[in-house]
Amino acid sequence: MSSKNTNIAGAASSLYRVLDYIRRYGPLAKKDLQRYTGLSWGSISNYTARLLAEGIIVECSGPRGISKGRNPSSYAVNRKKNWILGLDVQMNCLSGVVVALDGFRLYSATVDLKNRDASEVFGNILDLLERLFHSVQTPREIKRVGFSMPGLIDPKPGKPLAVYHFTGVFPGNMLKLIGERFGVPAAIFHDPDCMLMIHFNSMPPDEYAMMIDSNVVLIRWSYGIGSALLLNGKLYYGDHGASGEIGHTVVDPAGPLCICGNKGCLEVYASFRAVLEQVYAVIEEGRFDPEPYCRNGLIRDAIWAAYRQKDPAILPIVNTAVDYMVSAVVNMVNVLDPRILIFDGEFATAPRECFDRLRAGIAGRIKGEPVTIKVLPWENSGAIGAAEMLVQEVFFETLWNEIRDRTASCRDTLPSAAG
Ligand SMILES: [Zn+2]
Repeated sequence: MSSKNTNIAGAASSLYRVLDYIRRYGPLAKKDLQRYTGLSWGSISNYTARLLAEGIIVECSGPRGISKGRNPSSYAVNRKKNWILGLDVQMNCLSGVVVALDGFRLYSATVDLKNRDASEVFGNILDLLERLFHSVQTPREIKRVGFSMPGLIDPKPGKPLAVYHFTGVFPGNMLKLIGERFGVPAAIFHDPDCMLMIHFNSMPPDEYAMMIDSNVVLIRWSYGIGSALLLNGKLYYGDHGASGEIGHTVVDPAGPLCICGNKGCLEVYASFRAVLEQVYAVIEEGRFDPEPYCRNGLIRDAIWAAYRQKDPAILPIVNTAVDYMVSAVVNMVNVLDPRILIFDGEFATAPRECFDRLRAGIAGRIKGEPVTIKVLPWENSGAIGAAEMLVQEVFFETLWNEIRDRTASCRDTLPSAAG
């Protein structure tokens, strides 16, 4: 890269850093931006002027930041421009959102899936995209479509390699089909990676800055089980896009067949799907009646209510799932030694007692430094996270079109720390 290009890339990266703090913690005054980014007052003034001129941010009053005294003007993301559509493909449903660059939800919708046939699911995806594009007043402001999907996702061309959670196959050119139909580029990401990115939004600025070089594992403990690995502040994919498949690590070689074709995978014992199958079996046998526990008609909430009340049919099912998860997590922590372990997905809505058991099981079996365990159920985290994965791309396209191809993409890396 020539020195001119290096300078442009450096300025682009600093400019993005300014936007990143505004979108995460805005409205922010210049003083706050200076503190968080470590940039000079002059640079902050230049960058905010550029972002304002491009309509990416807007000026507003009432700072939420650290400044005291008079009420200086502060900056927030312009929610009327540069939207991203995120869509989370789960085994039981599709959830979609249209968000602004700061993650603000303009519209969201969910569709239950009737079956797991990939071509039918793809039809449902197109219908939902259609609905989401029609939900907003200016569809041309939707700049990207991002998918969060389970299975093996190739991070470079961004296509699904194997989605064994569904029967049949998704069209090999599904991103091209979507791009042509809706006129915007589309990309696919592994679902736990999306969720991990979104969880950084919930961190206070100082904690977020600490994550820059950290090792963090997020486990999506849901109908399937997958994980995202942030190693030294960078998402880790493996050489073939197949990393993080903790759900398909074998916990009993003689166990039952898993959807991946192997026997005795963690998912067979510890996934929410495994719990559901066992719960339906005890209902069938007449050993459990969800009715008295079912306030909102959701079987999931009936299971958690029954667990809380130590229902003899439900307690061992859930505890067994938790104990299998303990073993898998202990293995993972022993290999990776992460600072933080985050749980998201259906199981993250389980009663506190469930995670007390998990924490106690893990703590008793880890020899090194204790790992911080966070349980963060976040509504629509897969869909918003898929949109989050594309924020930098939209930003660079909007503002730095001319250098987009010359700067290294830093989508997977957290912006550099202050100072
Ligand atoms: Zn498996």
